[in-house]
Amino acid sequence: MPIQTNIADQCCFKHDNLPFEYFCIDHDVLSCKECLAESHRSCQKVMSVDIACKGAKQSQSFIDATELVDHVLETTHTIGKDEQDFIENIVKEANSVKTAVRIVKEEAIRHIEALEKSLLHDLDLKKDKIIQKSKTTIKETEDIKKSTKDKQDIFDLVNKHGSEKQAFIAVHAYKQDLTDLEKRVTGITEKSTRFTINLNPQKLQESIHSIGSIELSEVPSAVKFVQKKKCQSQMPIVQAQSMPQFVYKQDLDTKNVEIYGMTINDNNEVILVDT
Ligand SMILES: [Zn+2]
Ligand SMILES: [Zn+2]
Repeated sequence: MPIQTNIADQCCFKHDNLPFEYFCIDHDVLSCKECLAESHRSCQKVMSVDIACKGAKQSQSFIDATELVDHVLETTHTIGKDEQDFIENIVKEANSVKTAVRIVKEEAIRHIEALEKSLLHDLDLKKDKIIQKSKTTIKETEDIKKSTKDKQDIFDLVNKHGSEKQAFIAVHAYKQDLTDLEKRVTGITEKSTRFTINLNPQKLQESIHSIGSIELSEVPSAVKFVQKKKCQSQMPIVQAQSMPQFVYKQDLDTKNVEIYGMTINDNNEVILVDT
């Protein structure tokens, strides 16, 4: 695979055509001539890239950089696969929800059909009761009519063919019967009412607002990118420590001794190493 950018010719991002000639250890950044003058004038540790680059391939920062590249690529692959799996899963879940919605709808329809059946049964009961009441009135009226007709026949007969005495007796003999018939017919007309039968519809659009709602629950994805700690500077930064104050105690004769090393221990005592 051809390298598209010649890395060796990589120039400063700020100063287009200037090459990176320096490396500032203080800021841990590459620097061109201009950058050096602008931003690193007071920096303590600035070195030439040619010197700083020695052993770069074996350096921790190079290893860290290549590992980070691998890590990012691996994670992008995992994220891509995870998102693809997630899409497939959400499509499956949405299809299950569609089935569940259909079941809820069918249950609602069955429920409404049951309500319709109960309503029609109630209608029949009420209708039958009203009709029964009217039939009873008809029967009672027929009975009154028959009894009254009997009396009419008697009064007609007396009127056409009877004597005054027979008319007088008829009036008084049937007085109570006529009063009873009058009471019965009055009773019917006084109690008589007229029903109308109507539907008081339940406004379903008002009482049923929905048959469910779609809920989402969100949890963090299982794919995690653990950020590696920032690449360390290629050159270790050693902070200069201030030297302790020493107290003169005695002379040391080192005339015939070869000193190979010299150090200061934690008790600020100078140690000379001769072997
Ligand atoms: Zn620059
Ligand atoms: Zn700097």
